[in-house]
Order: sequence, then structure tokens, then C-alpha cells
Amino acid sequence: MVQLQRIAIAPEQIQNEHLILTAEQQHYLGRVLRLKQGDRFIIIEGNGQWWIAELIVNLPAASPQVKLIEIVSIQTELPLEIILIVALPKGDGFEEVVRCCTELGVTQFIPVISARTVLKPSSQKVERWRRIATESAEQSERQIIPTISDPVSFQQGLLTLQSSDQYICEARGNYQSLMQELISFETGKIPDKIIIATGPEGGWTEEEIEYAIAIGFQPISLGKRILRAVTAPIVAVSQIVGIMEK
Ligand code: SAM
Repeated sequence: MVQLQRIAIAPEQIQNEHLILTAEQQHYLGRVLRLKQGDRFIIIEGNGQWWIAELIVNLPAASPQVKLIEIVSIQTELPLEIILIVALPKGDGFEEVVRCCTELGVTQFIPVISARTVLKPSSQKVERWRRIATESAEQSERQIIPTISDPVSFQQGLLTLQSSDQYICEARGNYQSLMQELISFETGKIPDKIIIATGPEGGWTEEEIEYAIAIGFQPISLGKRILRAVTAPIVAVSQIVGIMEK
């Protein structure tokens, strides 16, 4: 089958089996990809549905510009949700985390400001992270686009969701490894979601670790070496994916 270009859309853009393109999408399909009337491409709805779609006009044009042809059945999602709580790294570090972890299969990112977080992100930064998640989801053929919450405090971030499997990565201390925990899934039931928290360059404070334990997070190790704040979430998610898809 010819490799079709893919674009992500919001579910409300679909009306009566037609798609209403935004100006930005018209520019991308018409100017960048040079698609013409009759050309086909794939649209990815944020909720996981893929469609083959066809341009019914040359762009730019008034709506509707696209007809939905048929549903595409694909399965690229993991059998569990991965929620990543990340104490924001310095500079553009979180962009790298979003890019790599979206490719790997994360469902939701919760950026948090912890005691030793240095970055103070603007609302433009948050929009940029969401654009990166969309692009990475398209590129890696994800069925869903991971959500990225607005940054919240460490305490609020940890209370956002709950799971029987919630872990806080701690670089020092004699903790059980994440891999050891994951291996136990193989013999038991796979949880429907797993929550992982990783710290900033300066690490978590003792009070933060105590708070996390008090509300049900288990401290775990990712190995004997000290990973960078950007590397740690990518390693944690890679280990989960490795076990789930072995
Ligand atoms: N400055 C801290 C120290 O010297 O202990 C290290 C912080 S590390 C650069 C950033 C974050 O990555 C940590 O807070 C932790 O969440 C995670 N991390 C790094 N290496 C890890 C490891 N070996 N096991 C578990 N978590 C790790």
C-alpha cells in the first residue's frame, strides 16, 4: 500500500462524514505536501480513530474540504496507560522527554514544579510541548495523542490520578528496581495504568519522597548509575514498553 501522509485532527472537526480543515492544516496539506483534489491521506482523531480521507477540492478552499472514506484498523497502543509525572528539567529538556516518550507510548504527561525545579514555563512553552506531542504521535503512528496538563505543583501532580501501580524514581538509596516490579506483572494481571514520577537535575527533597510514599507511591531504582533528568523518564518508559511488548 502507498504510504499515506498523516495529520492529527480534533474530533469536532468532523461533520457528517466530512472534515473541516483549519487554516494551518490547509497550508500543510496544500502548500507543504502539495496534495490536490482527489488525493488521499490519513487523519488521526485524538481519541484513537484513524480514517482514510480524500481532498474534494484544491486548497485553499471554504469548508468542507475533505471527505472521510473509511476507517483504518490499526493497533499501535500499549495494553496499559502510562502516566508520566516529570519535574521539569532545565532549558528545553522537557521537549526531548515529550518527543521520545510519545514515540514510546506514554498516554499522559503531568509536568510538575518541585522544590528543586529551576524552569518557570510560559503558556507558549506548554503549547509548544503539545505541538511536539502531536507531531511525534503522527510520526510514530500512535492512535492517540498524549495529553499534556498545565504544569502544577509537585503535590498536586501526584494527586491528579491514582493507580495501584505508582512509582517515584529515586537516584540514590537501596530501592527495588522498576524492572523487578514489571517482571511481577508477567505472572499477575497487567494493571490498566501505571504512574511514574521522575525528578529534576537536583533530585527530589527528602520531604518530597516522604510525601510520595505517604500517598502510596513506591520509590524505585532505574539502575546503579545516576541518569540525567531527561534520560530517567525515557529509561523508565522504555523498560515498561520492553516488558509489555517482549
Ligand atoms: N542530583 C541527584 C543526586 O545526585 O542524587 C540526581 C538527580 S537525577 C539527575 C534526576 C532524576 O532522575 C532523579 O530525581 C530521579 O527521579 C531520576 N533518576 C536518575 N537516575 C536514577 C536511577 N538510577 N534510579 C532511579 N531514578 C533515577
